[in-house]
Amino acid sequence: MTRMKCFIEAWYCENARKLPWRDTLDPYKIWVSEIILQQTRVEQGIPFYYNFITKFPTVQSLAAAEEDEVLKVWQGLGYYSRARNMMKAARVIMETYEGNFPKNIDELKRLPGIGNYTAAAVGSFAFNARMPAIDGNVRRVAARFYGLHDSIGTPKSDSQIEEKLFKQMEACEPSLFNQAMIEIGAMICKPQNPKCDECPLQNSCIAKLHDLQRILPLKKERKAPKTVFLDYIFLECEGITWIEKRPENSTWKGLYEFPNIQQSQETQRKNPFHDWFLKPDETEIKEPLQLKHQLSHQTIFATLWQFSCKEANIVEEKKEGKLKVKLSELQEFPVHKLMYRFITELI
Ligand code: SF4
Repeated sequence: MTRMKCFIEAWYCENARKLPWRDTLDPYKIWVSEIILQQTRVEQGIPFYYNFITKFPTVQSLAAAEEDEVLKVWQGLGYYSRARNMMKAARVIMETYEGNFPKNIDELKRLPGIGNYTAAAVGSFAFNARMPAIDGNVRRVAARFYGLHDSIGTPKSDSQIEEKLFKQMEACEPSLFNQAMIEIGAMICKPQNPKCDECPLQNSCIAKLHDLQRILPLKKERKAPKTVFLDYIFLECEGITWIEKRPENSTWKGLYEFPNIQQSQETQRKNPFHDWFLKPDETEIKEPLQLKHQLSHQTIFATLWQFSCKEANIVEEKKEGKLKVKLSELQEFPVHKLMYRFITELI
C-alpha cells in the first residue's frame, strides 16, 4: 500500500502558516475557528475570529448571548445557520457537560452544527483524538495521493478516504497529521496547478507519478442554482424606515431586511408597491437599485424600490408585522449580505 510517512509532520512544523487558532489547545477557540472557516477563506476569517473571540471569549459567554448579538458579530460571513448552531451547541455544552467540551468524537458529533470534519478537527487539535479531518482540500489531496477514481464528496468515497487516512495516522501525532494534510490541501495541492515540486508527498503520490493531477479528483455534477426575482421596498419617511425579520424555515432566517415580494418572473421594472400609499401622487419615487446576488443554491435578481413620503401616506395594514426604525440605527441590526449591499449603497 502507498504510505504517506509521518515526514509530513516535519514538513508542517517547518512550513505551516502562523494562524491565531494554531497557538491554542482551547477547544472553544479551535471550534470557533473551524466553524468560521467552513465557508470562509482564511484571510477573510481572521478578523471575524478575533472579533468573535473578543465578544464571546468563552463557551459560557456564547451560551448566554442573545441571538441578535451573535448574528450581528457574524454579519458578513454568511451561512448564518452556523452561528445559530454554535449558540445551541454552547448551551448543550453548558447544560450537559458543565461547560467543558466533550473529548470523544461521537459526543462532539452529537452537538448541533458539528459534523464529521469539525468533530475530527476539534477532537484531534485540542485532544489529539485519532480521527482524520476530511474537508474538501483533504479529499483532493487524498484522491490524488492514492489515485482514487470515485467521485469525491460521496459517502462511499469519504469512508474510503477515512479508512486510508486512519491507517496512515498510526505512526503520527493525530493533531499534526490532520493539520499537515489540511495545510498541504490549502497551500500546495491546489485545485489548479498543484505545486508538486514543493509537496512532501511527491515521491509516493499516484497522481504525480502518473500525471493525473488535472484529472483527479473526480467530482459529481452540481445542480444549477435556481433563479429568484425579489422586489424590496425602501421607504424614507422623515428619517425613519421599516424592516422585517426573515421567518423561520427560510434562507437567512432571523436576519433583518426591507419588506419584499418574491416574483415568479422578472417584474420588467413595474412598481409592485403602489398599493402601499394612500395617495400615490404624493410619493416621490426614486430610481430603483438593481443588484444580482449569488448564493450557492440561488441566483437572486433583486430590485430595491425607493420611495420618499410622509408616514401618514402609508397604508396602515402594510406596516403590520414590520419594525419601524430610525435610518441612523439601521446598521445596528443583523442583516444578510444582500441587505448589507443595499444599505451600503443607500447610506
Ligand atoms: S504531489 Fe502534487 S498532486 Fe500529489 S499530493 Fe502533492 S501537490 Fe498534490
